[in-house]
Amino acid sequence: MFLTPNSDALFDEARKLIPGGVNSPVRAFRAVGRTPLFIARASGSRLWDADGHSYIDYVGSWGPMILGHAHPRVIEAIRKAATDGTSYGAPTVLEVRMAEMITQMVPSIEMVRMVNSGTEATMSAIRLARAFTGREKIIKFEGCYHGHGDSFLIKAGSGALTLGVPDSPGVPAGTASGTLTAEYNNPESVRSLFASYRDQVAAVIVEPVVGNMGCVPPEQGFLQELRDLCTEIGSLLIFDEVMTGFRVARGGAQQLYGITPDLTTLGKIIGGGLPVGAYGGRKEIMHMVAPSGPMYQAGTLSGNPLAMAAGLETLSIIKEDEKFYSRLEEKAARLSAGVQRVIDSLWLPLRQNRVGSMFTLFFTRHPVRDYKTAIVADREKFGAFFREMLVRGIYLAPSQFEAAFISMAHTDEDIDTTIEAVRESLKAVM
Ligand SMILES: *Cc1c(COP(=O)(O)O)cnc(C)c1O
Repeated sequence: MFLTPNSDALFDEARKLIPGGVNSPVRAFRAVGRTPLFIARASGSRLWDADGHSYIDYVGSWGPMILGHAHPRVIEAIRKAATDGTSYGAPTVLEVRMAEMITQMVPSIEMVRMVNSGTEATMSAIRLARAFTGREKIIKFEGCYHGHGDSFLIKAGSGALTLGVPDSPGVPAGTASGTLTAEYNNPESVRSLFASYRDQVAAVIVEPVVGNMGCVPPEQGFLQELRDLCTEIGSLLIFDEVMTGFRVARGGAQQLYGITPDLTTLGKIIGGGLPVGAYGGRKEIMHMVAPSGPMYQAGTLSGNPLAMAAGLETLSIIKEDEKFYSRLEEKAARLSAGVQRVIDSLWLPLRQNRVGSMFTLFFTRHPVRDYKTAIVADREKFGAFFREMLVRGIYLAPSQFEAAFISMAHTDEDIDTTIEAVRESLKAVM
């Protein structure tokens, strides 16, 4: 029997004090038919729960932990920064070094503003796009996630391209109507929105590789088409690289696919596991931001020294290692090849999508290329698979519609253990 009495007791207590017992909904494990594990500690590729079980972790705090957990250099950087005080509300050298690091590694970002989360980054980026263009509408893609800002909690009505309808109560209809929704990997859907709203579109915001409906790569030409359309119509192209930034390549998805966005949002990895976000882009646009320009945006803890120290050390480690991304690719390729062998040998109707170290195993036989093709995946089967994996010491994201992440701390042995667990778990559930 796989019992987690300490986690269960903590969850009972938490549910009385915190909505749903968690501080972010997906953590409640509702999509996988059990209650969440409370995590006590983590190191390298491993997590330990409150009952002392250990797991090989493929969540990585939902993306930030590309070096693995508690990397000694990152922890030391945080310790050192903390000794000097945790926040001043005044500029520090770390912020200058962070801006320098980001602008060097991502050339389209000539200037950058630090914030405290990916949500703040995307909210600020669309405000900036609206301020810069003097237009009000934005186009987003069905199934893409850009944090919980009002303007982003919108999806299209049953496949049709419609004006935004809020996904959540509390989003004003007026705000929702500013968001137009197109289909990922379908440039025609964007073209037709531009045809109707030509002079009203401030920006197109996109996850250049989607992570938030599971991993869905852009098809050949899709991002280029967005670039061309935005240039033609004078809208800004915003790459939301909160997940993909420093994940799929040193310079993010924009480097991998060779597309230059006008604005980029970052988060996750640049905080090294502390709360961070950032938005940046061309100088001409960034000069609109206060106090350089009139677009207001601020933050009490923005550029926090602990977060800057953790992020800077993480990015430094990545930058020093010329083979960083090729080594990460080898690890991910080993895992996906092993999983594919299992799928093929058992003749299973499953699909893997992968871009570098982010990937998803979809419980569907058809290719997954957008929201419609993702949403048909068998969530019941996935939930059963998730629970089987957990018992075997593998911690996956508790939802079919999330990307898994591999870190530099995952060893070949971890990966081979995982492949065996996949084989046994799939045999048990399929
Ligand atoms: C995680 C994520 C966000 C939101 O970031 P938070 O730090 O959770 O607010 C926004 N966009 C993308 C693409 C993300 O993956």
